[in-house]
Amino acid sequence: MDKSLRVLEPHQSELENCAFCPKLCRHSCPVSTVEGRETTTPWGKMTPLHHALRDELPATLVYAEGSYACTGCLRCTEYCDHGNQPYDALAAGRAVLFERGEAHPAVKSLIQGFEERKARIAERAVELFGGDASARLSETVYVPGCSACLSLPSAAEDGAKLVEALVGGPVRIVASSCCGQPLYDAGDREGARDARRQFISRIGPAKRVIAHDPACILALFRDEEDKEALPFELLHLTEFAAEHLERFKRLDVERLEGQVFRYHDACRLGRGLGVYDEPRALLGRIVGKSPEEFHHNRALAECSGAGGLLPLTSPETAKAIADERILDHQAMGGGNLVTACPASASKLKERSGSVSVHELSSLLLSALEDPRK
Ligand code: SF4
Ligand code: SF4
Repeated sequence: MDKSLRVLEPHQSELENCAFCPKLCRHSCPVSTVEGRETTTPWGKMTPLHHALRDELPATLVYAEGSYACTGCLRCTEYCDHGNQPYDALAAGRAVLFERGEAHPAVKSLIQGFEERKARIAERAVELFGGDASARLSETVYVPGCSACLSLPSAAEDGAKLVEALVGGPVRIVASSCCGQPLYDAGDREGARDARRQFISRIGPAKRVIAHDPACILALFRDEEDKEALPFELLHLTEFAAEHLERFKRLDVERLEGQVFRYHDACRLGRGLGVYDEPRALLGRIVGKSPEEFHHNRALAECSGAGGLLPLTSPETAKAIADERILDHQAMGGGNLVTACPASASKLKERSGSVSVHELSSLLLSALEDPRK
């Protein structure tokens, strides 16, 4: 067997389950739903990797391109009686393609331009937080994440102000270092591991790290033992803010898009981290009632199209997925659409048309009782 295929071996039984499955989760996948193609169902994406592992098909981009047709939304797992995790196996498929020099052209560009991207994020971080924010010594560190800094800087800024207000003073802000998730999604496993190591070293002696992008948390928790090994507590911004629920007052909802607030569970925050209640409690507190729900919510919530590098590898599909969420929201009566993930919020905002999309941290900042307390 070609040694590049070894990364697929831990997924052998999952690949086999999918290859012989009558596509029981086909309706769950946002990519195949909008594309209307069999080849991008979880079955269609896993089967070529199953054959590649058995040396029955070459592991080339032509046969395994479906590995990139995944946002990492984890929704298929919810519908699978085996609890199969196609995202992990497809990410391994990407690693095979990378190793063999067969990576998707958009992914190759991301990897080749990664240092330049980091430099752009570092520049943006200085603009947003000032030159000294990453050098401060504090027990709490705020990590906005690359997507927030590049695509939705208002969320990064508001997240930092929110954390500082709740902590009661300046905190160290680690924005210019990457957790490695984009490289993992690109299939560059070694690059992802290096980035993760450097990221952890930038945290310094902090006791608590508050991350805004759930994908950063999942990247740092990638293996079970990682959770034990991290020298700090790691939590999402909404988990931290929910510890201070009493600090938030009712928002002046009159100036927003009506009185309806519908919460969208971002995939990696909900299914990835199991954080469902905290954002709802926070939003309910500031709007004075429980938020409205999408028809599919919590563990069955549907994707915004922002993850898994899909906006790079299949930009039109990623847009169509976001359009579906906006249409779902409008079909249920519209109003304000709120999510608690900067990457999701940015994708939904890009496709929102007349719909008001909010990233929860910005609403929370406006509803803070007394920022100086
Ligand atoms: S993830 Fe489960 S339900 Fe979906 S194709 Fe694979 S085995 Fe079937
Ligand atoms: S993780 Fe999401 S996008 Fe990927 S195969 Fe499963 S349902 Fe489709």
